[in-house]
Amino acid sequence: MEYPGNLFVVAAPSGAGKSSLVKALLELDSHLVVSISHTTRPPRGQEQDGREYWFIEPAEFRAMVERGDFFEWAEVHGNLYGTSRAAIESRMAGGEDVVLEIDWQGALQIKQLFPHAVLIFILPPSFEELLQRLRRRGEDGDDVIETRMSNARIEVDQARHFDFVIINALFETALFDLKAIVHAQRLKYAAQRRSKKAVFDALGLN
Ligand code: GDP
Ligand code: ADP
Ligand code: 5GP
Repeated sequence: MEYPGNLFVVAAPSGAGKSSLVKALLELDSHLVVSISHTTRPPRGQEQDGREYWFIEPAEFRAMVERGDFFEWAEVHGNLYGTSRAAIESRMAGGEDVVLEIDWQGALQIKQLFPHAVLIFILPPSFEELLQRLRRRGEDGDDVIETRMSNARIEVDQARHFDFVIINALFETALFDLKAIVHAQRLKYAAQRRSKKAVFDALGLN
C-alpha cells in the first residue's frame, strides 16, 4: 500500500521512554499525528478512553480481528493491542505523517504492509535503569513490572530488525535523535516530491 504521508513506527521495551519521547516530539512538530491503539489492558490512573488508548473488552477485540479492522495486532505482556484501520488510514491518505507507538511484533507486521515505514527502536541505557524507570513511573504493580522486565530481554533483541536505534540515556539527546530521523525522512527524494510538488513541477522534475 502506498500513501503520500510518512509513517514512523516507534517500539521499545516498556519503560524505555517511548511514550515520553513521542509526546515531546508531537509538541514540537505539528505535522505529526499519533495513532490511538485499541487495547484490552485496563486503564492506568490518569489514562482516558480515546486519549492514550481505546480500552475495550477481549470479546470486542476478537470481533474486530475477525472483521479485519486492524492493520496489525499482537499480544503484549498478556494483553491484546492493535492498530485499527480507522485510526490511521484517512490520515495517511490525506498526506499526514503518522506515528505508531507499538510493540516490535506489530512493527514488523507494519513493515510488511508498508515497506516505506520507518522503524525506530528505543533502547534503555541498561536493564538496571529500565527497572528504575518502571518503578519511578509508579503506574504498575510489582508483578506487572516483573513481567515487563523479563519481556524486555526478548524485546531488545529485536532492535537489529529496525532501521534506526536510539539510546534513551539523556532525554534531550534522545529527542534530538528522534527529530533528526523524522527530518531526514522528510528530505528523501520521494517525500520531497510529494510535499513540494509545486517546486518540482516548476523545475520539470517528476
Ligand atoms: P508501555 O510499554 O509502558 O508503553 O505500555 P503500553 O501498555 O502502553 O503498551 C504495551 C505494549 O503494547 C507496548 O509494547 C506497545 O508498544 C504495544 N502497543 C501499543 N499499541 C499497539 C498497537 O496498536 N499495536 C501493537 N502491535 N502493539 C501496540
Ligand atoms: P514507555 O512508553 O517506553 O513505557 P515512558 O515514556 O512511560 O516509557 O517512560 C518511562 C518512565 O521513564 C517515565 O516515568 C519517564 O518520565 C521516564 N523517562 C523517560 N526517558 C527518560 C530519561 N532519558 N531519563 C530518565 N527518565 C526517563
Ligand atoms: P503499556 O501497556 O505499557 O501501555 O504498553 C505495553 C506495550 O504495548 C508497549 O510496548 C506498547 O508499545 C505496546 N502497544 C501499544 N499499543 C499497541 C498496538 O496497537 N499494537 C502493538 N503491537 N503493540 C502496542
